[in-house]
Amino acid sequence: MANLPRRKCKVCSAWFIPAYANIRWCSPEHGAIYALELRAKEKVKAEAKRIKAQHEAERENRQLMAEKRQQVKPLSYFIKQAQQAFNEFIRYRDRHLPCISCGRHHEGQYHAGHFRTTGANPELRFNEDNCHRQCAPCNNHLSGNLINYRPALIQKIGQARFDALMGPHELPKWRREDYIRIRDEYRAKLKAMKQEEAA
Ligand SMILES: [Zn+2]
Ligand SMILES: [Zn+2]
Repeated sequence: MANLPRRKCKVCSAWFIPAYANIRWCSPEHGAIYALELRAKEKVKAEAKRIKAQHEAERENRQLMAEKRQQVKPLSYFIKQAQQAFNEFIRYRDRHLPCISCGRHHEGQYHAGHFRTTGANPELRFNEDNCHRQCAPCNNHLSGNLINYRPALIQKIGQARFDALMGPHELPKWRREDYIRIRDEYRAKLKAMKQEEAA
């Protein structure tokens, strides 16, 4: 057996000549103490691993639950979200313009008023030519005040676009993902417009 270089005992730090390459202790007693320490370290490592895995599982579970909550939401929830994002964009686009129907600037609330209603023409609910800033009285109490909306709209977008708006439109087969996409698109468009304004 080759002479191994001397080593310091892991427990008492005394120098010793190991009998084998894997011996780290000066005596069997210190070997037993060192084994306890190793086992304790292993236990800490295993516990740390278990806790980490538990946290990961909890996080995944929370994510899954959030996805499930979204999945059980009815389609109307996503239509409403998309419509809100679209309407908010329209109100901001027209922020410097008066009410499309009565031409008034006033202090009250403004809505996004559809010329062709979303009830009768759901295919035009996200059509930007079909929706303009409108005062609450015109929107709520005069059913959009369409008599006055019409000439103002033609003046604003031109006869050709007005005719196109009044022509036939296909109703897209919008599904949940489409409403989510439309919502996100209009949130992004609004954000970009606000950033442009700030720059
Ligand atoms: Zn020792
Ligand atoms: Zn008005």
